[in-house]
Amino acid sequence: TKPRVVVIGGGPGGATCARYLAKDSGGALDVTLVEPNARYTTCFFSNLYLGGFRDFDSLVHGYDGLAAAGVTIAATTAEGVDRDTRRVTLGSGDVLEYDRLVISPGIDFRDGSVPGWSLANAEVMPHAWKAGPQTKLLKSMVESMRQGGTFCMVAPPNPYRCPPGPYERVSMIAHLLTQTNPTARILILDPKDKYSKQALFEEGWQTHYPGMIEWLGPDMGGGAVEVRPATMEVVIDGEAEKVDVCNVIPAQIAGRIAEIAGLCDETGWVPVDPLSMASRVDAGVFVVGDASAQGDMPKSAFSANSQAKVAAMKIRGELTGSRVFPAKYTNTCWSLIAPKDGVKVGASYEPTPEKIASVESFISQPGEPAELRRATYEESLGWYQGITADIFG
Ligand code: FAD
Repeated sequence: TKPRVVVIGGGPGGATCARYLAKDSGGALDVTLVEPNARYTTCFFSNLYLGGFRDFDSLVHGYDGLAAAGVTIAATTAEGVDRDTRRVTLGSGDVLEYDRLVISPGIDFRDGSVPGWSLANAEVMPHAWKAGPQTKLLKSMVESMRQGGTFCMVAPPNPYRCPPGPYERVSMIAHLLTQTNPTARILILDPKDKYSKQALFEEGWQTHYPGMIEWLGPDMGGGAVEVRPATMEVVIDGEAEKVDVCNVIPAQIAGRIAEIAGLCDETGWVPVDPLSMASRVDAGVFVVGDASAQGDMPKSAFSANSQAKVAAMKIRGELTGSRVFPAKYTNTCWSLIAPKDGVKVGASYEPTPEKIASVESFISQPGEPAELRRATYEESLGWYQGITADIFG
């Protein structure tokens, strides 16, 4: 029988890894992807949907391309992992045996990180930090907000998926409101002193949405906020304020199955070997994407895709004897601030024994000409097209 690889999670990390394992091994490996959803909705570009630049269907991708590459799809959840006997228990009741396991479950939310909020309140105060119905809900709330109302975002502490994501989201919502509800106000409550691409966002907000957006960092009471979903209030420095829409993005941890598998450290993430993305506590289990704690790479789809290819190459080498090249990683995060006003930040990375380390980085600059910003935006459209094809086939 062929060596068996089980991949848990069909996002950018898991789907890329499964597809590359099947495709590059030419049928020498038995690859099964465990993913309960028949279709995947990308968080990346979901802010552009909020801003009216993409339709929802353009974010949705299926797994036919993986099946065509030879991946077996198990449309259910992984419920348990026994690393001693190398078995995964599925929600369907089946058990899968593996020679190598890949886990890429993305994130879950840390309970109690925003006092007053739990997942049970997500219909009233959506997170929209996992794409799908939550994204649509948030958009409909913004669209039906009363004239002059307040949109409030409770931003997450580090580390979280997509460092510039909350601020791109604010930009896109400001763009929408400028057209439909110009007297509306946006309030960001942030536990961080500073955030990704801050100078670029601040400049863009000043230019495109003057007076609309207020950011309160921890010094201004934006840190330890409480929310009251029943009355649509946020409590800042002991003072309750009524808001009209409240987007709560809680603190994050690795997707639950990583914890169940006994792979997380006290931070809630999975420490991995920078050379291969294998777990530090079990060389037979690889953890890629948001769930991993690897060093300098931001939690992004680009990173997950890059890490997945390194893991796939290593696994194939171990199981089929194919050549394993030294690991290299890259990432770029684009953000759209206003129509055709795109910015980016990125780096290339190399493994050291301690971590995946940034070796060369770049970032857009304030005051760039409109032409360059437009080119950066167009580059991001090409990236979305390219990476979704690379992930899903
Ligand atoms: P996920 O994409 O979360 O995939 C995990 C998959 O695992 C899911 O399909 C889930 O159903 C499945 N799963 C979980 N548990 C189980 C289980 N027990 N059994 C079976 N399956 C399971 N990144 C970029 O690169 N560029 C961007 O512009 C960008 N913009 C973003 C904007 C927003 C608003 C947000 C929220 C994120 C953005 N990101 C962006 C980040 C990006 O979406 C994530 O980093 C990426 O999705 C991580 O991929 P992943 O495979 O680790 O996890």
